[in-house]
Amino acid sequence: MIQTDILIIGAGPTGLFTVFEAGLLKLKCHILDALPQPGGQLAELYPKKPIFDIPGFPEVLAGDLVDNLMEQIKQFQPGFTLGERAETIDKQEDGTFIVTSDKGTQIQAHAVAIAGGLGSFEPRKPLLEHLNFYEDKGIEYFVRDPEKFRNKRVVIAGGGDSALDWSIFLSNVASEVTLVHRRNEFRGALDSVEKVQELKDLGKIKLITPAEVIGLKGAEHLEEIVLEENAARRTIQTDYFIPLFGLTPKLGPIANWGLEIEKNAIKVDNSLDYQTNIPGIYAIGDVNTYPGKLKLILCGFHEATLMCQSVYQRMNPGKKYVLKYTTVSGVDGFDGSRKEAEKAIVKSIV
Ligand code: FAD
Repeated sequence: MIQTDILIIGAGPTGLFTVFEAGLLKLKCHILDALPQPGGQLAELYPKKPIFDIPGFPEVLAGDLVDNLMEQIKQFQPGFTLGERAETIDKQEDGTFIVTSDKGTQIQAHAVAIAGGLGSFEPRKPLLEHLNFYEDKGIEYFVRDPEKFRNKRVVIAGGGDSALDWSIFLSNVASEVTLVHRRNEFRGALDSVEKVQELKDLGKIKLITPAEVIGLKGAEHLEEIVLEENAARRTIQTDYFIPLFGLTPKLGPIANWGLEIEKNAIKVDNSLDYQTNIPGIYAIGDVNTYPGKLKLILCGFHEATLMCQSVYQRMNPGKKYVLKYTTVSGVDGFDGSRKEAEKAIVKSIV
């Protein structure tokens, strides 16, 4: 049985950064994730997309942010169990928890941090004839590698942020980008809507609204899509069709752990430490909900930081923790390799 201080369920940005904040408090972490690689949505859904709202990074590719987080936590030597889903949880008499994965791996921890994001996510698929046939033959539900679309004709459908963001991004990669939406108004961020309009005026994006994709055609690979626009039908030749109608969030087995759930998210106490209704089980990042919740990476980082302080108090009742800035205390990883170097830096500053 694996034993640790904090079991983190989910290796998205929130789960990864938790290792760093826990490490500063000398708490050891083990991470369990159903996906085969760390990074959560950033690695699975948009590794090559730039992110602009990470403090200190004017622009960073999602995949690079994951690499940087992995580099930042390396010194704290977290354990990883990847490709396994958390199935059950059992509270022990000594207050610890044992979580068992779908493959039977057992992890015992003093605290459990659920950083499960959207849970196991499935794309919402359009109801189109022959859809299954064209999957991986021209139909993609995620843009994992934009290079795949270089110099290709792409039709994107949807009215949210993903459809707008990918249309903007691919307008510099694909030979032709057509954005189809069934309404004239988009649900996405206003600046993205404005950018799409701008690119349309420059002839870099074809915008077709209100319209709906109603058919798919092609022999071995997708060759055409059929559109219904103002009750009239038209055909567009394309190499790829990317319907971006959102993801169906599924909490999966965690939904049966006795936690308070609201709209597919776990309710937490945001006035203190992001603990759930079960003491010792926390929920941080996209997976939780509280008044005013924002599903942003930086919010997950903040929640992880406060949660670690609470776990420290839980494991060291009555012990006073004095907050130290890393610029002063340094970062003393579990391997101790940086200890002397950090000391030297601190000395030279003081
Ligand atoms: P996630 O990244 O969702 O990771 C959760 C992990 O938990 C997953 O790897 C999943 O496999 C795992 N998991 C779930 N259930 C289980 C289980 N039972 N057992 C084991 N593992 C489990 N945010 C920004 O701040 N800025 C942006 O510019 C931005 N752009 C975005 C663009 C797109 C296209 C999308 C889709 C999102 C964007 N976001 C952005 C949102 C951002 O990606 C999320 O806020 C962030 O990923 C949340 O991180 P997380 O670690 O909480 O969860």
